Amino acid sequence: GGSGPLAGFSAAVKANICVRGEPTDCGSRILQDWRPPYDATVVTRLRTAGARLLGATVMDEFGMGSSTEHSCVGPARNPHDLTRVPGGSSGGAAAAVAAGLAYFGLGSDTGGSVRQPAHCCGVVGLLPTYGRVSRYGLVAYASSLDQIGPLTRTVYDSAAVFEVIAGFDEKDATSLDAPVGEMRSAMDRPTAGVVVGVPRAQLALADADTNADFERTLLALQDVGVSVVDVELPDHRDLLATYYVIATAEASTNLARFDGVAYGARVHGADYGEMTGRTRDAGFGREVKRRILLGAFVLSAGHRGAFYDRALSARRRIRSRYEAVLSCCDVIATPTAPTAAFLLGSKLDDPLSMYHNDAFTVGPSLAGLPALTVPTGRDRDGMPLSIQLTGAALGEGILFTLGAAVERLCGKGET
Ligand code: GLN
Repeated sequence: GGSGPLAGFSAAVKANICVRGEPTDCGSRILQDWRPPYDATVVTRLRTAGARLLGATVMDEFGMGSSTEHSCVGPARNPHDLTRVPGGSSGGAAAAVAAGLAYFGLGSDTGGSVRQPAHCCGVVGLLPTYGRVSRYGLVAYASSLDQIGPLTRTVYDSAAVFEVIAGFDEKDATSLDAPVGEMRSAMDRPTAGVVVGVPRAQLALADADTNADFERTLLALQDVGVSVVDVELPDHRDLLATYYVIATAEASTNLARFDGVAYGARVHGADYGEMTGRTRDAGFGREVKRRILLGAFVLSAGHRGAFYDRALSARRRIRSRYEAVLSCCDVIATPTAPTAAFLLGSKLDDPLSMYHNDAFTVGPSLAGLPALTVPTGRDRDGMPLSIQLTGAALGEGILFTLGAAVERLCGKGET
């Protein structure tokens, strides 16, 4: 409680963000009984701001997934239709906000895990510029991509929570030493003259309702003085391949620490090798094992050059392409995902179709750029649709400016 800027507001925090003495299981059996001995920096900041922490929310195990079905305690469901997924991997936090169980949520986003659940549940989700929000106390999935971001009902709330959690932290070696300051007033800035770039070629991925809703939103923005230009971004196949090589490589290294010695569950064995093998076999789910195998493969001595090193140089090209595009326009706009929330179980047996869902979200992650998902409308089944706005590094302000306009134009504004 108290008198901070978030005094009295309740928060749902994804189960991979450390809260001292509270369950922080990352959706994994291997951490089911683990309680962190310290608070993540974002949690310390929420406490100082007066927020009330409600508890940990369901997630895809270690953040690996787009549906919140890969969890030892899941799945989470979509409050708009309980037969559908809430998106992932921060699906529990987004569903809690959409259902009114929590005023706001914190998720983590590696390749879309804040933005996709926001999209599926009809709430606002922000991926901050890489390094803006401290990762201290966030259990690592792919460290060069991981970033914590708010899930909120409005753009105003997103800016308000961002103000609280963002800023330099000496406990995170990749933290950016750039001032954050007041962000909410960005919502009142004019939209006239803002240039929005649209990567037309990528839109072929989205279904008819998604594209119709996206075009309607662009037209509405043009009515308030925004100009729309065509831009060219890398093909989604290059984005996804690059992302899934880098993310699995980093995951296989990060998850090596769960060996039954220092953290969490242990299954006994005759020696270290047997104990560790049994512990990891019992503790990790199918998708996590798949990622560890993929990551170990792309990093292996004979293949590293063909996969990991190539992915790193592809990532550099992707980043400079985004930078070049953002020197010609202020913001890049796409839908957040190719479709609205899909049915529970419908992609579980087909990991590639699940990965494909990340086509629009992995680009900003690879480039380290901020991106904001704002609800725009509904598809024919009444499921939420949204726009994803991507800005230049440290450009969260213009995302709030444009996001607030979208919110007003689509009739979602509450403040
Ligand atoms: N779906 C992507 C993955 O599984 C992104 C998840 C995330 O952002 N944590 O890697």
